[in-house]
Amino acid sequence: MSSQRLDDATAPCTFCRIIQSDAEDVRDFGTMVAFLDAYPVSQGHFLVVPKRHLADYFELSDIELGDSNRALRDLRANLLMVDSTITGFNVGVNCGTAAGQTVEHAHIHLIPRRQGDTPNPRGGVRGVIPAKMSY
Ligand code: AMP
Ligand code: ZN
Repeated sequence: MSSQRLDDATAPCTFCRIIQSDAEDVRDFGTMVAFLDAYPVSQGHFLVVPKRHLADYFELSDIELGDSNRALRDLRANLLMVDSTITGFNVGVNCGTAAGQTVEHAHIHLIPRRQGDTPNPRGGVRGVIPAKMSY
């Protein structure tokens, strides 16, 4: 992956460093990579990340969006194959600090869900504003 040029290879960006590391646990999906989240919401929580240093999801090109979809589907299929306790997924993107983004390099969360992992899962991603989760 080090052959892929980044827009700003000198940026002190956590995800750029991971992408440039050529680590075995970084999976290649063309213009995108995927790796496990270091502070997972659930076991098998992946991040799908562009090789280019982009601010957020809305800067992804159509090719990067296509590779993202391929990554999400491949990762999901693989997770379902190896872990029969997974019964659902959340796919989520935080864009901007107001929306909870903490790493300023675009990424898509793929979060496996299991029956009973939270007492009342109804509402899912609506929980970004906890008081609005239930409706
Ligand atoms: P967000 O809040 O949407 O910006 O998500 C950033 C995600 O990156 C969080 O879920 C973190 O757990 C994850 N994260 C932060 N640092 C690392 C790292 N060094 N390796 C993998 N995941 C990380
Ligand atoms: Zn970066």
